[in-house]
Amino acid sequence: MFIMKVNSVFSKPQRIHPLFYIRIVLLLLTGILLLSCSASENSKSPALSKKPIQAETDVFAMDTFITLKAYGPDADTLLESAKDRIAALEKLLSVTDSDSDIWKLNHANGQSTTVGEDTAAIIRGAIEISTLTDGALDISVYPLVSAWGFTTGSYQIPTEDTIQSLLPYVNYKKIVLDALCVTLPYGMQIDLGAAAKGYTGDVIAALLREGGISSAMLNLGGNVHTIGTKQDGSPWKIAIANPFTPQTNLLTLDITNEVVITSGNYERYFTDENGKRYCHIIDSKTGYPADHGIVSMTIVGDNGLTCDALSTALYVMGAEKAIEVWQETGGFEMIFVTEDKTIYLTEGLSDRYTNISNLPLIILS
Ligand code: AMP
Ligand code: MG
Repeated sequence: MFIMKVNSVFSKPQRIHPLFYIRIVLLLLTGILLLSCSASENSKSPALSKKPIQAETDVFAMDTFITLKAYGPDADTLLESAKDRIAALEKLLSVTDSDSDIWKLNHANGQSTTVGEDTAAIIRGAIEISTLTDGALDISVYPLVSAWGFTTGSYQIPTEDTIQSLLPYVNYKKIVLDALCVTLPYGMQIDLGAAAKGYTGDVIAALLREGGISSAMLNLGGNVHTIGTKQDGSPWKIAIANPFTPQTNLLTLDITNEVVITSGNYERYFTDENGKRYCHIIDSKTGYPADHGIVSMTIVGDNGLTCDALSTALYVMGAEKAIEVWQETGGFEMIFVTEDKTIYLTEGLSDRYTNISNLPLIILS
């Protein structure tokens, strides 16, 4: 049957439809086009054929909204790795997760505990800033943070007895850190909330830089890490919130390759029946929310862990002592706002800020 059919095709002269010729010409043209495209792709080096792309991702972790924006080849896969790293750090540092390093430390009853490198690095960095600021930053203030309800959101004013009974357990000098081995005295508990986001930003920025990213902005709940400049070569414009109306901005800063971290009384707080505000930053000497005249403290520098720890510590210390630390230590710039509605800004930022509020601004030198 089959042979018969073939024979019949070849045996009879066929009339060829004009459309047949048009199809052949089109097929030939398409073939030539494809060949020339693949030839020009092959002539490029593999690195050049990877077009720089913009990638952006959001994640809710560490009790905050995180937005990561990066430009460069592989930006999208690098941001996925960054998200995994953030999730792993959150698991390690959580005070409520019973698998975390912090939980193990807080339930060790005076025994030594081996922690991960990240946990040890944050504890080490925090202790350095505690020493520099005479204990204004103290990660062992956690039982008081908890007593005020800031860990759960069930806010309350603890009794004076409760505060006095917890204060003896607050003393960073009693934390023993030997490489990865940490020992807390019986009854002491810690929380790395004052420095963890800054450290996380450092880790993510390093991951992106190692992956070849030369332009990125990482916003961890208002704490900003930048890599390089914007794509057009101009500095990143980083806005600082107005602590009196946090939905509006106070000023903007021109930032390249730096970290901008703020601690403010508007971030987490509750008010009593008289309208008095109690904020989440605790004065480790009194056990009460810090109340030394500052409502927002921003640190600009090149290390997230240090800037984060400093923003909390200098907020607690108040204007005069914060200025002393800045003058004696150096290596960072700061902007703070006082409760009498004045902005203070250190001279290293004087040629790269725009005050968009109607608050007066004083430059510190
Ligand atoms: P930050 O927002 O970086 O200023 O960190 C504030 C968080 O750090 C709080 O939510 C507490 O968990 C914790 N904290 C509060 N006061 C202190 C303090 N004096 N020293 C260390 N950690 C603190
Ligand atoms: Mg901080």
